[in-house]
Amino acid sequence: MVRFRFGPAGKPVEYRGSTVDIPFFLKSIGLDAFEYQAVRGVRISREDAELLGVNARKSDVLVSIHAPYYINFSSQKEDVIDRSVERLCETVKVANYMGAYVVVFHPGYYGGFKPDEALRKVISGLLRVREFMESEGITSVWLGPETTGKTSQVGSVDEVISICREVGKSRPVIDWAHIYARSKGTYITSIDHVIEVIDRIEKELGRDALNPLHCHFSKISYGRGGEREHVVLADKAHGPDFKIVCKGLLEVGVDTVIISESPILEKDALVMKRVYEELLSAYKT
Ligand SMILES: [Zn+2]
Repeated sequence: MVRFRFGPAGKPVEYRGSTVDIPFFLKSIGLDAFEYQAVRGVRISREDAELLGVNARKSDVLVSIHAPYYINFSSQKEDVIDRSVERLCETVKVANYMGAYVVVFHPGYYGGFKPDEALRKVISGLLRVREFMESEGITSVWLGPETTGKTSQVGSVDEVISICREVGKSRPVIDWAHIYARSKGTYITSIDHVIEVIDRIEKELGRDALNPLHCHFSKISYGRGGEREHVVLADKAHGPDFKIVCKGLLEVGVDTVIISESPILEKDALVMKRVYEELLSAYKT
């Protein structure tokens, strides 16, 4: 039987309390995943990171961590790449303290490079991070390049798969809303599209990358350059449709972690969990 986990990207909107106790709150409302946000810099102490990890394991909440936004492995400037390596290494270290299984990050921007040149730069920067992980003996943390929402960003499904294949100890993080926005609302509009993405990952990277498949979900608005902003699930004017994504995931039968990036984080995580449970019972009969 497959397992789906649901949780918020960052501090739940209805939670008032310390970061280290978030897992208890999530368990109490029926959620079992948490993506710690270090998007504006890694600011948690080792002690708190370890305590958060202990509390998460006590609550059966699976933890992941989102690295700082200010990372660009395909910059024209060497010092920006150096700082990107440092920031990602720092996030990996904290992930290791927390027991977070994957470090999610946006690889970079094309910024004047051809896509294949930018991709090569991303891979060579990430190989430096892998060296760091090996030298520190960090073996339980995966790197998670994310599918990005803007057409100026490195991060198509194919690019993310290539990065994982070349860098190793990496798994694709599938942001369904980003893929949808990048395609200007033309992809992730049918169950077949969802299955195609999952099949490509399995074919190129093997079952390990899907065990579980780490996903982000929300609805999203987009313009000419792709992503504009994440919107709530109840917004009927925007996509993608969670039912389509969920049906595709159930069809393939893959363990999945779904992190809600909706503006109402945990509330929409619970909406998605409900949709999943309804689909699952229909699936079984
Ligand atoms: Zn992200």
